[in-house]
Amino acid sequence: MPDTTTTLAVLRDAVRRFAAERDWEQFHSPKNLSMGLAVEAGELMEHFLWMEGEASRQIKLDVNRLGQVADEMADVAVYLLNLANTLDIDLSDAIMNKIAKNALKYPAEKYKGRHSVKDKDF
Ligand SMILES: [Mg+2]
Repeated sequence: MPDTTTTLAVLRDAVRRFAAERDWEQFHSPKNLSMGLAVEAGELMEHFLWMEGEASRQIKLDVNRLGQVADEMADVAVYLLNLANTLDIDLSDAIMNKIAKNALKYPAEKYKGRHSVKDKDF
């Protein structure tokens, strides 16, 4: 199921069904889900720990390692989708609203090609 044809609603429903079939909703407090998300983010980061930045880009060439990274990314996403389900947050709205806020905070004309600016530069 590629990103180009799979909606967030489909993914949310899949994780909802997975949890319901196991009666796991009882464990899905926002506290537990947010902590689980952070744990999985740590497992993702472990793949890149101590690598130089450019070496971390080369992981795309290692099919086995890339698969492991994809698994950890999926773990992070599943926790995020479960959290959205538990809190009834529309993730698409939240993402688009946050992109709009970030566009105001980081105007392209100031930040193009830069991750930070000093006030004296402008
Ligand atoms: Mg994991």
